[in-house]
Amino acid sequence: MGRLWQQTAALVRGLLVVGRYALRRPVTTQYPDEKTRVEARFKGRHWLTRYADGLERCVGCELCVIVCPSQAIYVKAAENTPEHQVSKGERYAEEFQINMLRCIFCGFCEEACPTGAIVLGHEYELAAYSREAMIYTKPMLTEPYPGASGRDPRREV
Ligand code: SF4
Ligand code: SF4
Repeated sequence: MGRLWQQTAALVRGLLVVGRYALRRPVTTQYPDEKTRVEARFKGRHWLTRYADGLERCVGCELCVIVCPSQAIYVKAAENTPEHQVSKGERYAEEFQINMLRCIFCGFCEEACPTGAIVLGHEYELAAYSREAMIYTKPMLTEPYPGASGRDPRREV
């Protein structure tokens, strides 16, 4: 008899829980139709940003390469010339690659960058079908126009 009471009480408790949540809005996100909302501090895909005048912020210093704990970044620097001024420093990044398969999205590169060139945005849909597609090159990383990544191009570091 005691066992029957226990089971009945458990059933009633269960029904109460069902009743409590039945009329609430569902918490499940209907991904991919509905995108997941991320917090402001979320670290997703990287961007190489530009100043408002279009010059690249990256000066090819390789500090991001040095701090990256998973050695995911490759930078090949080149000299700016009056005829070919790419950044505001003496050098610029002729090549810049990030291996997204190695990146752990720690944000150390963003913190170390002296010019605020590299930023981690909010994009999280980074899946690809090949290893090559996961190695982001400079054309893929550089924002197409100042502010395209969502970061204010006039901001100071
Ligand atoms: S977020 Fe971290 S792991 Fe990814 S590239 Fe930057 S420093 Fe490296
Ligand atoms: S992204 Fe920043 S830290 Fe990395 S090479 Fe360019 S200027 Fe230096």
